[in-house]
Amino acid sequence: MTIREIQTHLADGSMTARAVVDGFLSRIEKRDASLGAFLETYAGDARIRADELDTGGADKTTGALFGVPFVNKDNILVAGKVASGGSHILENYIGSYDATAIRRLKEAGAVLLGRTNMDEFGCGSSTESSAFGVTKNPLDTERVPGGSSGGLAAAVASQMVPCGIGSDTGGSIRQPAALCGVCGFKPTYGAISRYGLMAMASSLDTIGIIAANVEDIASVFRVISGADPLDVTSRTVDVPLPELGAVNVEGLRIGVPKQYFDDHLEPGIVDSIEQALRAYEQAGAVRVPLDIPILEDALAIYYVLMPAEVSSNMNRYDGLQYGSETPESDLFAQVRATRGAGFGDEVKRRILLGTFVLSAGYVDAYYKKAVRARYALRRALEEAFKDCDVIVGPTSPTVAWKIGEKFDDPVTMYLSDIYTVVASLAGLPAISIPCGALNGLPVGLQLMGRLGEDAKVMDAAHWYMTQA
Ligand code: GLN
Repeated sequence: MTIREIQTHLADGSMTARAVVDGFLSRIEKRDASLGAFLETYAGDARIRADELDTGGADKTTGALFGVPFVNKDNILVAGKVASGGSHILENYIGSYDATAIRRLKEAGAVLLGRTNMDEFGCGSSTESSAFGVTKNPLDTERVPGGSSGGLAAAVASQMVPCGIGSDTGGSIRQPAALCGVCGFKPTYGAISRYGLMAMASSLDTIGIIAANVEDIASVFRVISGADPLDVTSRTVDVPLPELGAVNVEGLRIGVPKQYFDDHLEPGIVDSIEQALRAYEQAGAVRVPLDIPILEDALAIYYVLMPAEVSSNMNRYDGLQYGSETPESDLFAQVRATRGAGFGDEVKRRILLGTFVLSAGYVDAYYKKAVRARYALRRALEEAFKDCDVIVGPTSPTVAWKIGEKFDDPVTMYLSDIYTVVASLAGLPAISIPCGALNGLPVGLQLMGRLGEDAKVMDAAHWYMTQA
């Protein structure tokens, strides 16, 4: 059931909020044992909340998401609930407050069903680096669901929940959405408050939304976006709310960078993307071929800046402020033991990489150079957006791969982020929507827009989802 369908049933009285919640909970019971999307479900709390909604304990008229179940990713805080970030080091950490996005969802009448699996602290593209087991792709359980929000994408794709929120730092919402055949939206940086989201790479982190269709994404976005005094970066942009169906595809200029169709793209994916582009063209959109050479450097820029910020954000997990304590005789031994045992290999790899690019003697050659290159990338995209309204291409260079296939080869794993990191580095809104299949596995189409034009991106994607 989509959000709209749930709302129709609740409005005409054919279902109660409790019946909706019970329906999804029983689906989770049936499906999740074979998928491992959830780390925990809150069945008891969800039922109590649904009953409260049904008996008028909450204001029926103002709740924009009244009775709509949702889930979160394990790195978004909920008061009184464990938030482990997919890491052993925070295995028993309990959130002391609600993240702003969670609070707004709750206030709108949405019902939280549980927290979903993720790559440790968001470091990964397959959900295999979670400390709590691998999540499987619901379309083929031998394959990964993508990552790092793989649990969330798998939960939505298997209809265990209509929607959910997670983080997208370099593609963690869009890429798993693509690999699982659902929609994933990453907003303009700052459009959704990050208050209560565990920091990974602060200048790139956003909270994003996964749902089965763009309409549902827009419904969640309207509730959770907007300035928040608790996150200074949320006040720097003015992002209008989406009004779907407003976009005029006739005359819409679709930029298609040739760098998005490079050697890394799995043969066959291009056909699905071409088909989508032709659909837009047939409706009167204009294809604008783009050549943006710096896009070839985006992945390298990302994998210098991101680990640098990770290495600094992970400092807090020292067993003293945060993180499980491993008692040792002296302070250094204790910190070493806590971090040694608490972090997984991928997080350690990024801490090492980040510390290296920030260290004296290398900071100019790597970190500062990457910062300059990031600005150059932003300027190049600003230029490109003078000639087009949206930039379109594949979300992921491949469809879902077999579990284990890339796990021991970090560089190949990093390559799966090649098309998504661009919007992250530039702070731009981007969405992935399903468009065709390759060998029976879903392909994702990515649409990227100008800063603050989240509504246009959603609307242009909505047009494709609803045509024909
Ligand atoms: N897969 C990317 C990475 O490992 C993106 C992660 C994310 O967006 N959290 O860095």
